[in-house]
Amino acid sequence: MTMNKEYQICTRCVMDTTDPEISFDEAGVCSHCRHFDEETKEVWFPNEEGAQKLRAILDHIKAEGAGKQYDCIIGLSGGADSSYLGLKASEWGLRPLVVHVDAGWNSELAVANIEAIVKHCHYDLHTHVVDWEDMRALQLSYLRAGVANQDVPQDHVFFASLYHFAIENDIKCILTGGNIATECIFPRAWHGSAMDAINLEAIHKRYGKEKLKSFTTISFFNLYIWYPFLKRMKTIRPLNYMNYSRTEAIAELEYKVGWRSYGHKHGESLFTKFFQNYYLPTRFGYDKRRPHFSSMIVSGQMTREEARAGLAERLYDPTDLDSDIHYFCKKLRISRAEFGDLMAAPIHHYSEFPNWDRRYRFLKILQKWIGNMTGNKLRVYS
Ligand SMILES: [Zn+2]
Repeated sequence: MTMNKEYQICTRCVMDTTDPEISFDEAGVCSHCRHFDEETKEVWFPNEEGAQKLRAILDHIKAEGAGKQYDCIIGLSGGADSSYLGLKASEWGLRPLVVHVDAGWNSELAVANIEAIVKHCHYDLHTHVVDWEDMRALQLSYLRAGVANQDVPQDHVFFASLYHFAIENDIKCILTGGNIATECIFPRAWHGSAMDAINLEAIHKRYGKEKLKSFTTISFFNLYIWYPFLKRMKTIRPLNYMNYSRTEAIAELEYKVGWRSYGHKHGESLFTKFFQNYYLPTRFGYDKRRPHFSSMIVSGQMTREEARAGLAERLYDPTDLDSDIHYFCKKLRISRAEFGDLMAAPIHHYSEFPNWDRRYRFLKILQKWIGNMTGNKLRVYS
């Protein structure tokens, strides 16, 4: 990898050299497209085969959960993917424990959308409200650290809480709205895993001013060994067993539930909106629409022309941006000058702080080795 690589954009998707690890073949097609063709396609079933597999999975979940209060757990963020999953789970006759983790940044529309789903499906909603002082302290640490993935505190507590709820209620099956159709392409070089509690704690130790009181984390051992192998918990992504289209899902949600669209992705969290549309592009030059649109191109939901037209649209309306920064400062209790300092703090790569990368690589080697020995392909969801 050279530092001043010449600009290049894929001839099939819209990924470009803002991913420092991208490579291109003679036809100008990128490594992400190649990875999709060679590997991702193998685990994506937007067809009749998927429908059959999904039926078998649902039967298994129901049989395993028979006699229990819940047969699976779903985390509802208010976003399109998890809302659609919530609706489908009810139509499939599942009995999910529905959990919402409130990290303090919900938009009003997100709250209304969650309520609409819960009411329509007759779910009891279990809300975990994250201690705001913990959340604020962690988010300020991340801003001071100047790392790319500012969404780690939110994402981590979301999944960690989901696991804790599952364990508490003896639920073996976690359903998530994660899906290939809209998010299979993502440059690994952009940032590390939000599940890495070692990294989270190291960053807070270095930059944090207050001790965390009750922030829920999940350890590497629990996530990759204890829960999947000893507790036999599984994570299932049902949207990968159907021809999932976010546009059609939104139309169905609007029609059946009265759910309302955010207009752009991650309108459910004001922090995520600010992080993706302002922080990442201005500080790092990363535009998250690029991998998102590219995923939709390779999964056949968008043309390259539509993606290029989408990328040409501005990320933030200037008036919107100003009022969002105002809200952001007020919420985090910082002045506009402090905000300026944070946005100018030196940039760091997450790997400059202790992290689990070596453990993770070792686990992958071990998995492959056990897989070869037993003839089974062991898959831990990563
Ligand atoms: Zn490509």
